[in-house]
Amino acid sequence: MKNIILFGPPGSGKGTQAELLMSELKLNHISTGDVFRNNIKNSTNLGKLAAKYMDSGQLVPDEVTIDLLSSELEKFPQSKGFIFDGFPRTIDQAHAFDALFKKKDLSLDMVLSLEVSEDELVARLLKRGISSGRKDDQNKDVILNRIQVYNQQTSILKSYYLEKLNNSFFSIDGERDVSLIFNDINSIVSNY
Ligand code: ADP
Repeated sequence: MKNIILFGPPGSGKGTQAELLMSELKLNHISTGDVFRNNIKNSTNLGKLAAKYMDSGQLVPDEVTIDLLSSELEKFPQSKGFIFDGFPRTIDQAHAFDALFKKKDLSLDMVLSLEVSEDELVARLLKRGISSGRKDDQNKDVILNRIQVYNQQTSILKSYYLEKLNNSFFSIDGERDVSLIFNDINSIVSNY
């Protein structure tokens, strides 16, 4: 069993690398953002609630997101492991994640942190907004808000995991070609 957190700011390439890693390792990919977007598409109550926050670049409240993560885990009882993309994003989510893993007798193997400069993030997200149709990628203020939320509430988790995992926290230069980044990730994971 292998459990990996792919960490990084919005637009750092977590989703892209998670997909590549998932097919390489046959792990399940859990993206909280994707689950919220599916719920929005299907007009569920959860989707309606999440959209209120996502459209302006705020985080969906912790209780909602933690419940969602827990029920996503239940969907794959036979899993070989998970790639977590977009979770945890706050210190309370990280604590809830620890408790959930303890309860399920699971262990977190590593955190891979993608590092990308702010200018590059904004440029990538605006570009993605043109092709993906994602509302939160189409407005520069919303993008800047998401980056600010990341800086204020999420980036602190780097020191949390650095302390907790020590040798299993890896910083990766995410401002290169997708394939070069994936080579690094793949070699870290396969040497683990
Ligand atoms: P990005 O990383 O580009 O912002 P995501 O798909 O990961 O894209 O997230 C999109 C939005 O979904 C976030 O801005 C936030 O509103 C919501 N979201 C996703 N994951 C979480 C989470 N763990 N906690 C709270 N909100 C979340």
